[in-house]
Amino acid sequence: MSAPFDRIILGDVVTGAGVLNDAYVAVRGETIAAIGQGEPPPAAGTDDHRGRFILPGLVDGHMHTSSAIGWDGIEGATRSAAAGGVTTCVDMPYDVPRSVTDAGILAEKIGWVERLAHVDMALYGTITKSGGVDAIAGLAAGGISAFKLSTYEYDPVRFPRIDHPTMQAAFAEIARTGLPVAVHNEDQELVERLTEEARAAGRTEPIMHCRTRPPLAETMADLEIFEIGLATGAHVHIAHSSLARGFAIARTFRGMGMQATGEACIQYLCMTEADIVRLGGRGKCNPPFRTAEEVERMWECLLAGEIAYVSTDHAPWPVERKTASDIFACGAGLIGLQSFAPLFYTLLAERGLPVSLMATYCAERSARLHGLFPKKGTIAVGADCDLAVLERGDFVFDETAIQDRPELRWSPYHGRRMRARVAATYLRGTLVWDGQTVLARPGSGRFMRRQASP
Ligand SMILES: [Zn+2]
Repeated sequence: MSAPFDRIILGDVVTGAGVLNDAYVAVRGETIAAIGQGEPPPAAGTDDHRGRFILPGLVDGHMHTSSAIGWDGIEGATRSAAAGGVTTCVDMPYDVPRSVTDAGILAEKIGWVERLAHVDMALYGTITKSGGVDAIAGLAAGGISAFKLSTYEYDPVRFPRIDHPTMQAAFAEIARTGLPVAVHNEDQELVERLTEEARAAGRTEPIMHCRTRPPLAETMADLEIFEIGLATGAHVHIAHSSLARGFAIARTFRGMGMQATGEACIQYLCMTEADIVRLGGRGKCNPPFRTAEEVERMWECLLAGEIAYVSTDHAPWPVERKTASDIFACGAGLIGLQSFAPLFYTLLAERGLPVSLMATYCAERSARLHGLFPKKGTIAVGADCDLAVLERGDFVFDETAIQDRPELRWSPYHGRRMRARVAATYLRGTLVWDGQTVLARPGSGRFMRRQASP
């Protein structure tokens, strides 16, 4: 006897392997129970998305929901994620007032996730500037998906630079846990000197953000983290490479037998130095935008399979932190969760590339690296029924439609033509975005423990 399915979802099903046209996804409870083409089996309900793409819900492997306003930020950020087809958010640990530096703070943050999140969340952990290595095993046991460290100090408590000996000890301990360690990759000395010189010369216009964080600042940091990784056996992951060279360096270290990876944020696949000139503080992020030629090299890396996954680095600064005429006074980070799916689809369409790349780079690969696959990141029998439904057409991204608190409704992509919009989002079989309204509630989302090795 075969029990009826709870729901049948009709559309063109996209996986990393390709597109199943005129297909269905059958849901039972929270999971995908069947996938097929042709006449769908009987079910209690049918959602008709024929003519639309049904992708795995996106797994955004890099964001900062709580860096500006604390854990309260989880609520609005995950609401905009639901509206953007992102069903799993992997959140960075550099929160105000406290970073996630031990198992107790992790447990507290998990409580906030369970109360506030609209979509599922996995979490990074980090260490304190000194004396933090002892907390590593407890964070791993607490279920974090990865560690995050930095070569650059934004704040001595919240976002410290970890010195080389401490990084070596931390990597050795992290290697024992089997978890990856993502590292923010910018050289402190070089950036500080160039910034001092620019300020002294009165050069505080937007392009100076790029000039004071040149490619060398990034690649020197890449080399040191991979050297320490090679010496300790840790899986070291560049938290964001804006440069093709970062992926070439990772490949070189993989050739030496270590686990060396790196991710690209979507902005490094489309934004250029001309965009920070145009956008001012709204275009400030670290690392900065590079040249148009570099963007092309980044796509070559992606198509060669060298990019671990594509993320947003969503960092919701209130807009008043992004508007100073002195570029150095603006916060670094972009709002990007709700634009992620439409923009990545648009970039693929503009380049004549297949939509299956979105399933691969924005869901499957990020889920794998964070140990969430195959529960997350794929449309497969037994997986959580997390889906992003894309409607193709001619749209314009409107920042006022961002489903977050009013001061966070800004976007560097405001006014950009988009070839698709997110028409629906499903989280574990439940419709959480119908194309107009977020139907999820705070607490609809759950904490996702790391489940597997990459
Ligand atoms: Zn980040």
